[in-house]
Amino acid sequence: MYNLKKIVRSNILSLQPYSSARDEFNGDNATFLDANENPFGKLNRYPDPYQKELKEQLSNLKTIPAENIFIGNGSDEVIDLAFRIFCNPGIDKALTFSPTYGMYDVSAGINNIELIKIALNNEFQIDTNNLETYLNDEQLKLIFICSPNNPTGNTITSKAIKYILDNFDGIVIIDEAYIDFSQTESWITELQNYPKLIVSQTFSKAWGLAAARVGTAYATNEIISLFNKVKPPYNVSHLNQQAAIKALNNAALFETNKQLILKEKKQLIEALTQLNKVIRIYPSDANFLLIKVSDANRIYTDLVERKIVTRNRNNLIENCIRITVGSKEENNLLIEALKI
Ligand code: PMP
Repeated sequence: MYNLKKIVRSNILSLQPYSSARDEFNGDNATFLDANENPFGKLNRYPDPYQKELKEQLSNLKTIPAENIFIGNGSDEVIDLAFRIFCNPGIDKALTFSPTYGMYDVSAGINNIELIKIALNNEFQIDTNNLETYLNDEQLKLIFICSPNNPTGNTITSKAIKYILDNFDGIVIIDEAYIDFSQTESWITELQNYPKLIVSQTFSKAWGLAAARVGTAYATNEIISLFNKVKPPYNVSHLNQQAAIKALNNAALFETNKQLILKEKKQLIEALTQLNKVIRIYPSDANFLLIKVSDANRIYTDLVERKIVTRNRNNLIENCIRITVGSKEENNLLIEALKI
């Protein structure tokens, strides 16, 4: 039986969180002499620690109550906080399916948590056949499922995800960093059915705000309260919050740019298909393509010499390179360089 109190680290359950000056009074137009701020300047005041305005907008967009939303300093912060909330260092374990996003491993390492890596099958899908023993391990607290998956680009089948949700009593984080590029529906719609589910998304990809560092997590209010308890008090700067709000207010631009990227992706696939060097282009629901080439190391270095930087994934998947879909000009430069 899933029981949140059994999964959370006991020191986090009993933790008295830092109460910031803005927690105690958050009205406007007061004389603020509480936070040792500087009375002069434009960025002199601490930002809203709970990002209310941003959450209200996200709440409308995602049709989910604001209390079910957490905002992080990028979704990388969501990953790190999850380890710190749910996993006792040196004792508990987390699990993911490889190849996948490298930060699960790094974050696990930083937090001294063993990360079990189960290989995806030939189609980069989760094979649920041999999972049972892992899922029954009392020390396994956290499972990361990246969908669409980085670096493979495919969406993980809902059958496999449902199997994990139905057979595991810990926390399941579905990392949907690339969901906006996909036709598949977000798992946010399943949050009401699965209290153990956390869905993370980001403003870094389709929203075009990688520099701003704004990530999101959607979950029950009990889980969101834990994230709020553990996060640094002012984890998302005023500038970052404003950048995200501005982007949300320009939904037309978001849609236009997303469609442009998807159109470019289609053309990039067509152009890559013509090249002898390219052996295979894997199906992608994201804004990048994983391609198998004749000699990934050589092609990667040749491209770097021409100042075109791709991601060599040869150490994860033999002779594979991950290419982000760029602008028309950038993609043309890549194709021309690959022709040589
Ligand atoms: N998840 C996945 C799958 C990613 O690929 C990335 C960034 N490359 C992140 C999370 C982190 O994104 P950010 O911290 O910029 O929100």
